[in-house]
Amino acid sequence: MKLRQSRLFLLFFAPFLVLACSDSATEPGPAKSARGGAGGDGARPDVLLVSLEGVRADALSCYDPEGGVTPNMDALASEGTRFELAITSAAIGPPAHASILTGRFNHQHGLRVIAAEAANRLPDDVPTLATLLGAQGWATHAVTSGFTASKAYGFERGFETFDDVESKLNIAGQWGKEDQRRADETTDLALARLESLPADQPAFLWVHYWDAFDRVLAPAREFVRDRTWTTGQFDAEGYYRLEVSYIDQELGRLLDGLKATGRYDNTIVVVVSNFGLGLGNHDWEGHRVLYQEEIGVPLLIRGPGLPAGRKVAELVRTVDIVPTVLHYAGLSAPEGIAGLSAHAMMEGQRDRTRIAFAEAINVWDRNGRGMLRKRPQDEFVYCVMNEDWKLLYRPTLPYESELYHLDEDPREKFDNFLRTSVQSVQFMELLGDEQPWLVDPPGDEFRAYDWAWKCPDDRREEYAPHSKCLKCGAATVLMLHEEGAAVMYTPEEGQ
Ligand SMILES: [Zn+2]
Repeated sequence: MKLRQSRLFLLFFAPFLVLACSDSATEPGPAKSARGGAGGDGARPDVLLVSLEGVRADALSCYDPEGGVTPNMDALASEGTRFELAITSAAIGPPAHASILTGRFNHQHGLRVIAAEAANRLPDDVPTLATLLGAQGWATHAVTSGFTASKAYGFERGFETFDDVESKLNIAGQWGKEDQRRADETTDLALARLESLPADQPAFLWVHYWDAFDRVLAPAREFVRDRTWTTGQFDAEGYYRLEVSYIDQELGRLLDGLKATGRYDNTIVVVVSNFGLGLGNHDWEGHRVLYQEEIGVPLLIRGPGLPAGRKVAELVRTVDIVPTVLHYAGLSAPEGIAGLSAHAMMEGQRDRTRIAFAEAINVWDRNGRGMLRKRPQDEFVYCVMNEDWKLLYRPTLPYESELYHLDEDPREKFDNFLRTSVQSVQFMELLGDEQPWLVDPPGDEFRAYDWAWKCPDDRREEYAPHSKCLKCGAATVLMLHEEGAAVMYTPEEGQ
């Protein structure tokens, strides 16, 4: 009876104790989370980062009840916080994972493409969640399941063990079964790793699931047979949702294993996807374009003393994950990262509004050549957005840039780029300030472009690279040096 009472006390009061501590712990310092159970060293929480390759938010039933069957992810959402508008930094795996792990946008961490001779690896001097937690005494381990999350991209740095999929890839950009690992095998490896963790040390485990990205690996036969919610042949979308559901089952098995070790209650669990697939929206099945179905990702965070049952409607970015995890682990975020901790929003407070950046450098990625035959306009796309508006800026075809009023048009059907010049110019000015441009080809076989630098508003004069407009002072933006572009681009009267 006594035991039961003390457990009740922990259940009801532990969250408040932790919140009180978090408030007073805005200065970096040792974690003060109230916690019990095995794992960690009595003060610092474990961290489980689960990333899903190519899973769009609406494939989870907690985002779209019609969209999928994901009971384990739904349970995490109700135990913690579900972010309704979480934006990733790219619609390809390596740069997007690099942002999740570093808290930096692609132009800040430097990993921009899948296959080239440069810009295809996370530089050694960029801190990651693994190097930061490792330096503070966390055991660090990773199990990843596809070549794009492998050592080839520098992701192993900071991890004591890094169990990835070796690949002969990938100049050609094609891969097969040997380049990816099915979710049940990933879970088995992660469970074995969990068993081996020292009881008296906090741990960071990154587990990456691959299955939904392509159709190469089919879910286990018995899983498919048992799905009563689908029958017969699957269309592409049905098959995709089946695979997400299979990942969810395997994530449930991983979480059960974590509970069996006694560490679950003291673990911050983050579930996020690195990007989504088109599935026919905007006439596109795959990835590498930056509409919401591809850069709007699921993001769930739960943990000891963290708010439960919350939905955050405000814009967050995947670069916010690192500082959020560090905040709840009692650590300060490194200087110079773009990400901002989301703890205030999770705790129901107002926070500064955010701007999200994403990019597609398709033409300088050998892996992107196939898609450009169908969508040549997507050679370069730079996205900048806030909660209401979103610009897709195309420096080689500036007049084909797109502006969407997400608030009124969440499916991005009505392009306002030429009509709403004020908003377009504002976002272009933000791009000018941010300077995300990749102007030199990362490899000699790529053709160089004849770039020009122009005022985001006036667009007539040409200026020196990375300079400011001499008339209005705005940072100039990159655009192709081309007569036609400037003509098409003249802002309308009165806008
Ligand atoms: Zn100007």
